[in-house]
Amino acid sequence: MAYTNSPMVVYTKLSPNNSGARTHSIDRITPHCVVGQCTAEGLGDWFYQKSTQASSNYGIDKDGRVGMYVEEKNRSWCSSSSANDQRAITIECASDKTEPYAFRDIVYQTLITLCVDICKRNGKSKLIWFGDKDKTLNYAPKSDEMILTVHRWFANKSCPGNWMYARMGDLAEKVTAQLGGSSDIPAKETGMQASVLSNLTEADVIKKVGSLFTENMKKSGILASVSLAQFILESGYGKSELAQNANNVFGMKCSLSGNTWSGSTWDGKSKYTKQTKEQNADGSYETITTDFRKYPCIEDSIADHSAYLLGAKNGKKLRYEGLKGCADYKKAVQIIKDGGYATSLSYVQNLCSIIERWNLTQYDVKESETPIAWYRVRKTWDDSKSQKGAFKTLENAKKCADANPGYSVFDVDGVNIYTPKASTTPAVPFLVKVSISDLNIRKGPGTNYDRTQYIPIGIYTIMEVKSGKGSTAGWGRLKSGVGWISLDFVTRV
Ligand SMILES: [Zn+2]
Repeated sequence: MAYTNSPMVVYTKLSPNNSGARTHSIDRITPHCVVGQCTAEGLGDWFYQKSTQASSNYGIDKDGRVGMYVEEKNRSWCSSSSANDQRAITIECASDKTEPYAFRDIVYQTLITLCVDICKRNGKSKLIWFGDKDKTLNYAPKSDEMILTVHRWFANKSCPGNWMYARMGDLAEKVTAQLGGSSDIPAKETGMQASVLSNLTEADVIKKVGSLFTENMKKSGILASVSLAQFILESGYGKSELAQNANNVFGMKCSLSGNTWSGSTWDGKSKYTKQTKEQNADGSYETITTDFRKYPCIEDSIADHSAYLLGAKNGKKLRYEGLKGCADYKKAVQIIKDGGYATSLSYVQNLCSIIERWNLTQYDVKESETPIAWYRVRKTWDDSKSQKGAFKTLENAKKCADANPGYSVFDVDGVNIYTPKASTTPAVPFLVKVSISDLNIRKGPGTNYDRTQYIPIGIYTIMEVKSGKGSTAGWGRLKSGVGWISLDFVTRV
């Protein structure tokens, strides 16, 4: 296929920093973050200097304008990997200067359109994100497949930044949808969890996984917020990673893409044992022996990670002494760091900022001296996953059931002690508090309606509640008229 260039280009300044003709046909796209809100011209000037020793095929500037610096037929110097750049279209995107190196929305939207254009002109009907380095680099794309790769796999840097990294799956899905292809990757390649979670937003995943901790963590003795934050941090923030890297992060034998861990032994029934070398805080190494189960799902994988932290030993001494029952997340994170789990100096800070950003302490169950006769709000007693919350007082449990059509209050023995009367639609208007930064506003009551933007953190008036796809508590119409939000992620005030 003859090489062409994108008609979206509004500015061209060809860089001398390239290797001439590609030695491999185009079957990858590698988005990068510029680390600056640049213009197409500024980026062009930078790549035009020989001393820069770098270039990209395209750049998307802060206003969504597309610049071209190396023609598609030629190999750019962009991803710290000759093998990658020989077959990839590299795209530098204007971004913030600090982690997570966020892009402006117009930049991201342009990236989607540019990827669609690149795929079309190069005969591809699908853009694929595996979220797994080994899987990706060993994969032989079919003739109509374009594969996403990231710079961080080839060099010790964050590029494309955690903001974009978390959206790689979304980018692949949106581009593939516009190409008219199906974004369903066969189940054997990504595993069931990926398909179960792929329709959820990042906030949905956090909520879904978090809700499973409310009771489990009481049993395991480690704070849910800490486990969740580790999971989010180590799996790269994003929903596809939450699904796809779960195994790698928390010790499954095989990754969902089928890669196996080397060095583990299988007992033939349910348990893998693996010895790993881990670095202590003083820089010395210890050999740690840990047993892992084969997990049927991510929730179990996370729960077992807690079991690992609580059980890991150096000789006879507990590696993370003091973690069990520790009710202060800052202290718990420090214990994990000091035990040698992580060597990065920013580990404690990173975990704490994730806990604060997602308000993960909401999932922590506070221990008490005497057992509490919790009142649980669920659809049915058996449907424990539907649980909205566990309350110390019946009054609060009733309020929760009132606000959630279809829910009842169950006592500690599972007896239904309260079901709201038929008219369960909450009286409107009422006020809600939004305390997460990425709750979508949608054009209608359901995830099947387009999103328009994130709603800023604050207090809002809901004028009407309707049930709809993707929300258990229903959708609330905003007084301002800009759209609807899921009531799953707000609290009534
Ligand atoms: Zn890069």
